[in-house]
Amino acid sequence: MGSGGLEAVAPTYLALDYAYKLRKQVACSVYIFHGNLSLAADRLEELYQAGRSAGVEFYRYQEPLLIDDQGGHKRIVYRDPFLPKHFPPLDIKVDQVVIAEDFLPPLEIRQIAALTGLMVGSDGFLSLERLPGISGQTNRPGIYCVGMAHGPARILELWDEIEAVRMDLLVKDMSIKAARDSAKISLFTQKKATAGKAAGLVAQVDPSRCALCLTCLRLCPHRAIELNECPERIDRGQLYQQTAWIHPLACQGCGICFAECPAQAINLVDLSTQNANEDLILLLYENGQLYRQGKQNQDSIERGLKKPVFSLLSLACSQSGFLAASSLPLIKLADDASYSNQLLAEVRVQAVPCAGQIDELMVLQSLSAKVDAVLVWPCYPEACHHRYGNLRARHRLRLTERRLGEIGLSERIAVAPLSGLSQSQLLDSITKMIDRLKLSKPVVIKKT
Ligand code: SF4
Ligand code: SF4
Repeated sequence: MGSGGLEAVAPTYLALDYAYKLRKQVACSVYIFHGNLSLAADRLEELYQAGRSAGVEFYRYQEPLLIDDQGGHKRIVYRDPFLPKHFPPLDIKVDQVVIAEDFLPPLEIRQIAALTGLMVGSDGFLSLERLPGISGQTNRPGIYCVGMAHGPARILELWDEIEAVRMDLLVKDMSIKAARDSAKISLFTQKKATAGKAAGLVAQVDPSRCALCLTCLRLCPHRAIELNECPERIDRGQLYQQTAWIHPLACQGCGICFAECPAQAINLVDLSTQNANEDLILLLYENGQLYRQGKQNQDSIERGLKKPVFSLLSLACSQSGFLAASSLPLIKLADDASYSNQLLAEVRVQAVPCAGQIDELMVLQSLSAKVDAVLVWPCYPEACHHRYGNLRARHRLRLTERRLGEIGLSERIAVAPLSGLSQSQLLDSITKMIDRLKLSKPVVIKKT
């Protein structure tokens, strides 16, 4: 038998089945040599138990087996990986050796992968994302792969896979229709300086604004954007009759296209039913310490304490900075009646699905909304869940910082990459910003 895991499902099934039948029907010893015997598939464990009860013997090996033909008999020499290294190899004499069949991927797999952007594994078959509870999902959300395209599999499992994919598509389709029916308005249509929900966002193109520059097609890390014919343009007899189109199943709502579209033709539509408060955390800063406030206390500064000296806004990636802020200990300082000092700073931490969504307008609108400074907390460079959203954000915000510098406000923005466990770096980035603000002159940005 092969040494693989799931890719060895078909050989494993056949070996277990034939060994069991042979042992039951013929008076002979049956041995199965296996590498990493994986039984995580339908009915394999059952067959394995039946074989063991019938007397089939199982031997594990790591180093290659030596099969020695001794004229009429064969000798299998192997090392038992559970015995000490110095232990000599073991051998078993047998009359017949049956070797598992190997499955080779069809040549077309590489062509399909090149056309669709799907990933090919080291075995030459299409790769699947190993996501809990999701079957057949490839690296391109919205494109599924079942059966032999992702490796040897039995026909019975094919139907199970198809059914699982059908159910997944049904659920996604229902949630998209439900969201459309409830006609939720995009949080971002006017490019407000509010960040999106950590889940449930889908990008949509407004064809009347799309300039066909293809920026979004190039930048989407999930290859969710295509060019489609646009009926309105065709009706109007326009020269260019296509528009960018975003597949709602493939879009992961990272917002990179939204931030980069030069024509502001992309909106992020909220399909989730999540409570907006779950994307917002209030931190209070005093004496070099951070206090995370309960959600119900978000207005309590105004009610219980004087307005803090500095007010900061943090736009935090939901996969890193927001997680770090969420795991700070919860201390309801604003509820403490004995506490009457003026706080040094409050930090409103707003989750964004990906830092790649943060654009210059979002930062400028935050600064004009009585926020003294904006902190951006993306993931570390190699850790972005949307491949390079954090790098796009860094590049974009460097330009923003330069432009703010032209009006003497460059110290009002800082980018600090974090992980979900980086509470000390999070505190450090706030402390540094407050130190900068203490040295800076007050500047009032007037709305025009
Ligand atoms: S980036 Fe904007 S303008 Fe350019 S193709 Fe995409 S939607 Fe159209
Ligand atoms: S929001 Fe992200 S995943 Fe969706 S289309 Fe835009 S870039 Fe692609």
